Amino acid sequence: EVKKNGKNGYQFYTGELNEQLQEKIELEVELRQAIARKQLFLNYQPQIRAGDGQMIGVEALVRWNHPTKGTISPGVFIPIAEETGIIYEMGTWVLREACRQMKEWHRGGGPLIPVSVNLSSQQFHQTNLAMYIKEILEETGLEPQYLELEITESMMMDATVSRSILNELTESGIRISLDDFGTGYSSLSYLKLLPIHKLKIDRSFIRDITENNNDKAIVATIISMAQHLNMDVIAEGIETKEQLDILMDNDCKKIQGYYYSKPLPAQDVEEAFFAPMRASGS
Ligand code: C2E
Ligand code: MG
Ligand code: MG
Ligand code: MG
Repeated sequence: EVKKNGKNGYQFYTGELNEQLQEKIELEVELRQAIARKQLFLNYQPQIRAGDGQMIGVEALVRWNHPTKGTISPGVFIPIAEETGIIYEMGTWVLREACRQMKEWHRGGGPLIPVSVNLSSQQFHQTNLAMYIKEILEETGLEPQYLELEITESMMMDATVSRSILNELTESGIRISLDDFGTGYSSLSYLKLLPIHKLKIDRSFIRDITENNNDKAIVATIISMAQHLNMDVIAEGIETKEQLDILMDNDCKKIQGYYYSKPLPAQDVEEAFFAPMRASGS
């Protein structure tokens, strides 16, 4: 009988599996309550114009302030939210909170910059996605040109991420950005079929760009393609001056990464980035 050999690998393995499963189930239960209990919050990572260091936008990134586990990152709980359908309510909350914060900054004399919000593919399964996003803009008073939606390449290939929804969104003035560009399995022809405004070069091409000529070539090609397609381009995951210099040499002027700033609470963005902007009069 298995229990008599309590120390064998099999028992150890199932025990560990059960523990992981148990933990996941607990997280799921707690995640369902997290929104109502106001445990979710947004951090904002500045997007910087490399030439003069000005903040030209922010990306909203959700965090979960768990009562006992501390801050949990979206890499852990977004997949659970997606598997369980919690993503619908969470996605709506993120959109509303990001738009509210942006409008508050605009009203308070902060910089007139846009916010980028990540969408999950499931959110496109909601038939009224475009309508409720427009409702959130009306509710919060944020002008549509200050909202940018980030979708991924694989979502672009997903039939439910339909051209009609993206067209409806962009016709109202909202912008669409392709996140993690270069990592998905997408056909470039989608770039001309869908209303995409911006390519976001994935961090995986930036990481080794100072030593890896293939990465350098890919990044240069993405930048050039974006320019030829009249799209905006931004590089994410810039951590060092050396990486920044390569991007600038290749004419990529928009940068997001730890080199300039980690994602910060709204208050910290104000303190670190608003005052310098006022001082420079822009
Ligand atoms: P993402 O949309 O590609 O966001 C960028 C991620 O890279 C963020 O991780 C950010 O903190 C990290 N990052 C930015 N600059 C650097 C850098 O220089 N070095 C390194 N090592 N990392 C950098 P985060 O906040 O943990 O988010 C992870 C992913 O979770 C996001 O990737 C996005 O796919 C997803 N996510 C975050 N917030 C939301 C949300 O509100 N809704 C949805 N659906 N997904 C979200
Ligand atoms: Mg993103
Ligand atoms: Mg993403
Ligand atoms: Mg990304």
